[in-house]
Amino acid sequence: MRYERMNPCKECMKHSASCGGENTCKQVRQKKLRPYTGIRFTSDGFDCAFPVSIDVHSVCSFGCLYCFAVNTIQGRVNTITPIGEASLSKLEGIFSGKSESKEAQMFRRALKYHDRNENGYPCAVQLGAISDPMDNIERQRGWFLKFAEIVKKYDQPVKISTKGNLFLEKEYLDAVKDKPELFFVTYSIITPDDKVIKEVEPRAPNATERLQCMKNLTDLDVKVGLRLRPMLPGVSDSTPDYPQAYKTLIERSVDAGATAISFECAFVPGRMTEDMQNRWKTLEKIVDKPLVNIYNNFGKNQACMRPPYQWTEQIMHAVYEEAKKHDLVIGVSDPAWKQLTEVGCCCGITEDDPVFGNWQRESATNQLMIARDTGKLLSRHDITPEWASHKSLCGLVNPGVGPTAAYTHRHGTWAEVLSKLWNNPEKERSPLYYFQGALIPVKRDKDGELYYKYQGLKRKTPENTPFWKIN
Ligand code: SF4
Repeated sequence: MRYERMNPCKECMKHSASCGGENTCKQVRQKKLRPYTGIRFTSDGFDCAFPVSIDVHSVCSFGCLYCFAVNTIQGRVNTITPIGEASLSKLEGIFSGKSESKEAQMFRRALKYHDRNENGYPCAVQLGAISDPMDNIERQRGWFLKFAEIVKKYDQPVKISTKGNLFLEKEYLDAVKDKPELFFVTYSIITPDDKVIKEVEPRAPNATERLQCMKNLTDLDVKVGLRLRPMLPGVSDSTPDYPQAYKTLIERSVDAGATAISFECAFVPGRMTEDMQNRWKTLEKIVDKPLVNIYNNFGKNQACMRPPYQWTEQIMHAVYEEAKKHDLVIGVSDPAWKQLTEVGCCCGITEDDPVFGNWQRESATNQLMIARDTGKLLSRHDITPEWASHKSLCGLVNPGVGPTAAYTHRHGTWAEVLSKLWNNPEKERSPLYYFQGALIPVKRDKDGELYYKYQGLKRKTPENTPFWKIN
């Protein structure tokens, strides 16, 4: 059995000091992990084209210093509950249609099983939204190998985001090679500098290995892309060994077969646990920049601290230009510079992709792009998918505390949340704030529905931006 013949601790020994004493490995070597739902509606539903995600395990082993997922999954030191592993039988019940539960039907609805594309494919499901599906827990468990058999049985496309190196292994390549068209693997790499990665993403494979995985998949006709996110000064722009880091990374990704890029600048979580504060302190030492202070000085604009567009303009455009040079499909996940996107899916997947093109059109990214290109005024109906009126908030958003919050959580719908955000421009997650002024409210109809117009962000074209080194 896999758990008997592999020992991830052994390979991890060099990193044991950063393990945090969470006994993750010990748990992972048990035969069974805590059964856990794993599949969920993404809380990024406002601007994401893939509404359904699977968090394979409830924790991630990579330990990136900037990770915000430790706040949303159970990754906090001292608050660890047993590791959960997504139930394969539950997933098969959803993909096969055999599960009659209301929840399973909701997932099928959001995955557009009733509205497949001309080639018969539903919307892709995401692996790797808030824990890495190819991390060292997966290396030990081999969950993906069984999952791949299920998705191939039901022709369910899977969009994977990872920093893992499991596609160096024959058994993982074998798992996808007979139906390569069903997998789209995007590699999260924020610098080509392996030395920097070792410090910033301490238990994740280096960039060289990730790029080799990209190449291996390309050789099997699996589509691959680059996720250059979250970009950080001193990491993604320029390092001592890579003075034009983003350029080198894009070139190497293209050489490895990448056809698309998705990019955004880092944000700083608004509320940090002590563990997160320590991670950010370490990160600051590595990049030799007072990152948290820099972000604090921007002022609080959202629940997480997003940098203002003036500070990210130069790096976002530099990456855009480089990606254009290499004919990559450009998907922009950064809320401030969505106007640079070429496609309405921020992973960089085109509408006419024969397998993956059936993504959700009612996302703010796609609608902002339509407004940019056509002058259309947008209403909340444009960003509200059909399933949202039926989906309760359970599992989608943090309910807060108190009886009212609990009631809303159970009985409110995602469509109601979208409506509140859309129609109240003063809210921090409203389109006005979220896109930093690229969409502005222009009129309200008799029912109180607000309409937004695209005006875009005006470039200032700075020659230098504080703390970035962009050549
Ligand atoms: S791979 Fe993702 S989830 Fe895992 S530690 Fe890094 S940022 Fe967090």
